[in-house]
Amino acid sequence: MEKIKLGIIICDRYRTCAGGKCLRALKNREGAFAVYKDQEVELAAYTTCGGCPGGNIEYAPEEMVKNGVTHVHFATGFLVGYPPCPYMDYFEKFITEKYGLKVIFGTHPIPQKYYLQHVALKTWNSKFLIKATENTICNENIRLNYD
Ligand code: SF4
Repeated sequence: MEKIKLGIIICDRYRTCAGGKCLRALKNREGAFAVYKDQEVELAAYTTCGGCPGGNIEYAPEEMVKNGVTHVHFATGFLVGYPPCPYMDYFEKFITEKYGLKVIFGTHPIPQKYYLQHVALKTWNSKFLIKATENTICNENIRLNYD
């Protein structure tokens, strides 16, 4: 089976993040990486959006394509920030249309503390965010492991 090369774009709010949760989830095939359960994958790119309104989204995918990346993940920070990134659906359309990459929402499981706060805020009640968070909601035990 062919190896999948993937890239991760993180929300610039979390630009100092060392990527530990994403890398652990990728290794364990948890959260949005569960889709690769029986697949060999290589993390071939990791960058930030460049800060609102996401200037690096315009350019980073070009380099990813040159390096063989076919799947781009918007890190879970896009979904759990206060507020979640307001540009996600546009970014997805742009990257898909211009670069032909597959965009996946989320990386590691949503940490329990963010889950509880967003449930209280009813943040994810829109049709779009219900769909965007479906890979990373997971179950309580997994969410607690990522707190
Ligand atoms: S909210 Fe969106 S555009 Fe703003 S820094 Fe985060 S990912 Fe980038």
